[in-house]
Amino acid sequence: MNNKLLVLGTIAYDAIETPFGKTGKILGGCATYIGLAASHFKTQCGLLSIIGSDFETQHLDLLKSKKLDLEGVEQLEGEKTFFWSGKYHNDLNTRTTIDTQLNVLTKFKPKVPEDFKDASVVLLGNLDPNLQLEVLSQMTQKPDLVVMDTMNFWIESYREKLDELIAKVDVISINDEEARQITQKHSLVEAAKELHAMGPQYVVIKKGEHGALLFNGDDIFCAPGLPLEEVFDPTGAGDSFIGGFTAYLVQRGKITFDDMKTAVIVGSALASFTVQEFGTKALEKMTFVQLAQRIQAFKSLTEFEIEIT
Ligand code: AMP
Repeated sequence: MNNKLLVLGTIAYDAIETPFGKTGKILGGCATYIGLAASHFKTQCGLLSIIGSDFETQHLDLLKSKKLDLEGVEQLEGEKTFFWSGKYHNDLNTRTTIDTQLNVLTKFKPKVPEDFKDASVVLLGNLDPNLQLEVLSQMTQKPDLVVMDTMNFWIESYREKLDELIAKVDVISINDEEARQITQKHSLVEAAKELHAMGPQYVVIKKGEHGALLFNGDDIFCAPGLPLEEVFDPTGAGDSFIGGFTAYLVQRGKITFDDMKTAVIVGSALASFTVQEFGTKALEKMTFVQLAQRIQAFKSLTEFEIEIT
């Protein structure tokens, strides 16, 4: 296993409304959150995405400063960057998409950079399943691990292609609502079984503030959600989760159920930072020491001794 991690996804501008406030256009996109999360681990992480000429130099500089490889990021002159706007409801676990402007995405033909064609791990962030499949077809060596994410936007209108993709990945990471939407099962255990049957050996179901579940056949691991005093904006929590989860596995160089369990905690800890400020701000500032402390907090939260006589 080499230490290369190829990430496909959006680099975007978002506008977000939560019960705690509203933003103007801010930096977003799944590849952005994934890259920022992955940058804390020893990997060579390359982003594969597209931006428009409106994409600000300060944001490109931010990604470069995190040592992310941007050779696979194309900038289209005279075109606008992908834009998404969403509103969160009072419980923060549900949101409504207000606007999705695909802009440059309609012209996106991902070209995997030569240096990443043999990447051991490929993370297919939430995007058109046609593009996710296209990236897999360009790999010259079969990756050791392929991880994917998706969302309702693609589940509703691209179902056939999505199923084709799901059959080709090792890990699918989606939220509870998406798992129910894909499988039409209310029970998450049943939904996970159904998802396994569609292809992936590992199924991760995220439950927002209530944590995440990892399934590998009959083996189940349950990570708690860290009780936080302040949550401002859940945008990008899922991407931070999967970015941290995957980059940790690349750094570890091993992929067993036990490694995956730790990876779920690492991802959950990263996501817990993301939600504490609007957009990418908290993730940008977070240090590795803070991350390590939070991982410890997850451990203490769930550790207990019991004697049953
Ligand atoms: P998450 O909160 O983890 O589901 O991801 C939020 C990010 O996904 C935002 O920063 C958006 O820019 C991005 N996003 C929203 N809709 C889409 C879409 N249809 N395809 C790809 N990325 C999207």
